[in-house]
Amino acid sequence: MKTVFTGSFTQQEPIPESAIETAVEIMRSGRLHRYNLVGEDEGEVSALEREFAAYTGAKYCLAVASGGYAIATALRALGVNAGDRVLTNAFTLAPVPGAIASLGAVPVFVGVTEQLTIDLEDLRAKAKFADVLVLSHMRGHLCDMDELMKICRSMDVKVVEDCAHTMGASWNGIPSGRHGDMACYSTQTYKHINSGEGGLLTGDDPQTMARATMLTGSYMLYARHGAAPHPVEFEQIKYTTPNVSGRMDHLRAAILRPQVQDLETQCKRWNERYQTVESVLWGTPGLTVVERPEQETYVGSSIQFLLLDWSDEKVNDVIAQCLERGVEMKWFGGAEPNGFTSRYDSWRYAPSERMPASDRILKGIVDMRLPLTFSVEDCAVIAQIIREEVSTVFQAA
Ligand SMILES: *Cc1c(COP(=O)(O)O)cnc(C)c1O
Repeated sequence: MKTVFTGSFTQQEPIPESAIETAVEIMRSGRLHRYNLVGEDEGEVSALEREFAAYTGAKYCLAVASGGYAIATALRALGVNAGDRVLTNAFTLAPVPGAIASLGAVPVFVGVTEQLTIDLEDLRAKAKFADVLVLSHMRGHLCDMDELMKICRSMDVKVVEDCAHTMGASWNGIPSGRHGDMACYSTQTYKHINSGEGGLLTGDDPQTMARATMLTGSYMLYARHGAAPHPVEFEQIKYTTPNVSGRMDHLRAAILRPQVQDLETQCKRWNERYQTVESVLWGTPGLTVVERPEQETYVGSSIQFLLLDWSDEKVNDVIAQCLERGVEMKWFGGAEPNGFTSRYDSWRYAPSERMPASDRILKGIVDMRLPLTFSVEDCAVIAQIIREEVSTVFQAA
């Protein structure tokens, strides 16, 4: 009898009880809007901004409606206009090029390496086309951030970090999101903290963050933010910055605050699971484990491996046979976008030249979530199933 795994790959942990209690209190009060405050009350949203700024070390933090909205807001605040080209990763998720396109700007895709990070040679070649890079730390893989920043600074390219998968991670001891000019986080259910939907935007430049604050729809109430620039920073821009409404509410902020406090513990738990899967996968014939550089402190909330140069048919066989045994994996190489998974050539509103070296990598990427509802033992079972099915298909003629 072959073992079958019966856990759910989409089941996240419940929201902490303390967060539920505060959320219920807020609902009872009826005061959900961030500026619907009594007297000098700080309010949950402002407190979350203050606490998240302290957690990352950023000067300023702004809570918003989603991660994708945070990216679009960062780009607007940096002065990106319709028709401008914006660099971004060929290997990322649809909301990233979507945020660029939402401004009428044009994504220019940069290739991906076997480490699943942005191809710095390709970036060097394309940096002259744009003033801004949206750097997606896709699936939590950090590139050589020191080298990337050197390239971008020398070419006068501003960097917006998409930290949807790197909240809690760092490069050379510096938290992800603290290398570039601005950083965007998602608090959507599948990310590292969960409020259903939501996003956070951080940065150190007072004028840019003041514009971002006005953009999210602060009206003239920006002084009631927990980690916003000083009110003098708003005196000029308040007349010239449109309100592109996309605030966070107290309910979501209340749900998130205890999760920020727990984040470090949760990251450790993710890594126990990740390392368990990885250790079983090492040495599987035909399978390439993605090696993590020493400078990278990652958060293993999902795992990727490569079936490099496999035929579509064989990859499909592996995915199907694993699924039959309860192990749900996604393939980035599929020709058609599927579920949450798509690739640069699926985004036909942003045509690009083919990138053969990146296509080879994308074709080989298999991706799996590791929700914290799985025990470490579950992860060993899952990895063993993958190992068996990959070996069987690889060795079949
Ligand atoms: C989820 C995600 C986003 C966008 O976040 P939303 O909150 O869903 O808008 C951006 N980039 C990556 C890589 C993501 O996975």
